Amino acid sequence: MGRYTEVYSLDKNIYKKACPILIVGGRLLKDNHNNQILGQVKLKNIVAEQIKAIFINIATYDVLHNQIDASIEYQYLDLQLQRDDACGEQTAIYFTDQRIREIDVKIQKVVFADGKIWEDDSGETTKLHDCTPLNEDLQDELVQQYQRECQSAYGSNSDSCALREYEDYWICTCGAMNWKEEKSCHKCGKSKDWIKFHLDETLLRDNLEEYNTEMEKRRVEQERIQAEQKVEKEKLTKKRNKIIAITSVAAAFIFVVFVVYQSVQFQEYNKLSKGIDKYVNTFSKKVGYDCEDEEWSDIISDPYSFEDRNLIKDKYNLLNQKGAVYALTDDDGSEYSNIYTVTWIPDDMLSDDKISEIKKIVMKKYGDTEKKSDYSLEDYTSLNRDNADLYSWDIEVDKNTKCVLNLVIHRESGEVQLQIVNYDYIETIKDENESGSDYDSDYDSDYDSDSYSY
Ligand SMILES: [Zn+2]
Repeated sequence: MGRYTEVYSLDKNIYKKACPILIVGGRLLKDNHNNQILGQVKLKNIVAEQIKAIFINIATYDVLHNQIDASIEYQYLDLQLQRDDACGEQTAIYFTDQRIREIDVKIQKVVFADGKIWEDDSGETTKLHDCTPLNEDLQDELVQQYQRECQSAYGSNSDSCALREYEDYWICTCGAMNWKEEKSCHKCGKSKDWIKFHLDETLLRDNLEEYNTEMEKRRVEQERIQAEQKVEKEKLTKKRNKIIAITSVAAAFIFVVFVVYQSVQFQEYNKLSKGIDKYVNTFSKKVGYDCEDEEWSDIISDPYSFEDRNLIKDKYNLLNQKGAVYALTDDDGSEYSNIYTVTWIPDDMLSDDKISEIKKIVMKKYGDTEKKSDYSLEDYTSLNRDNADLYSWDIEVDKNTKCVLNLVIHRESGEVQLQIVNYDYIETIKDENESGSDYDSDYDSDYDSDSYSY
């Protein structure tokens, strides 16, 4: 048990016609320490004027409603009570008689800030009417519609009381009490006429219907937007997946193409490389030697046609192209034994790409070289060609033999030939030095960065 026990409570909202004060409530408490009785009364200013003092009269009774002594007067002083302000709730009024179990409170005098005084006219007190819930008059959906209209017009949507008019006051839908002569609610500002008009059930129903239609429209619109966004999102996802798929396929395709390309290039390279090896091997050991006729017979197309000391083989496939192999002999006019040069001349002009490819292969096989410009082709061949490019490589065939492989490119006439020239090993070195031919090891060609590093 706490220190205080409530032993009596007053009725709520005790109102007296024309009285500026409403007795909101009151109670008697017993102090459990000393059994003293004390009272608390809550008072509210319900008029527009400010109040500075309230005099009340308290009649006291015992538990059997027998009045005890004369009534007690209590003064609330130094107040600044505006309309709807309350006082007294925390003020304890001590009674000397511990038998008191019931009180009756009357407002005796009210002093306004301007000095005017209201005095009790001994009229009857009644209970101020409470707020009647608005949904006693209207369906909930119509109450909500009314609240939306209040929100729209007055910025507040919490009105939940029915409009009620009594003899000298009316209760606003916001719950405030207003005097009969007040046309608008002193608290929320709504005029009584506006409230009456907007509480009309037919109007509320029409407005509610309009509202629901609008809401349905918005809902449909919202759904449409969401559906659109969903479709858009799906499109984006599909597009992204497609890009990923395409990118993957493209990457895989490029990889395959690269591998196939590398493989084709490798095969092509090998083929060309082997062709050059075969050409060198076929002729190098016969050229420059005192060979017997028989040693040439297997590669000379027609011994009789060789009598003109020129054509060895009319069909010889080199560098994937058909061509003919020609021979040069020395001055004494003898036949096979003095062939010192063979030359392959392709039937069709070699493309620049093919020449570049051949150069790469031969450079790789026999080392770097540079174009020799200052020379007479007649040193190497009887086929007189001016303005031709000559690339030369020394090739060691065996311990005693060295060949010179020449690539002669004669672009002006559209002809390109590949010839092989053979000298005695020692003499070759001597002759090369005397003729001023040299190698430039610093020669920088695309060869260095080629991809044939197998
Ligand atoms: Zn109001």
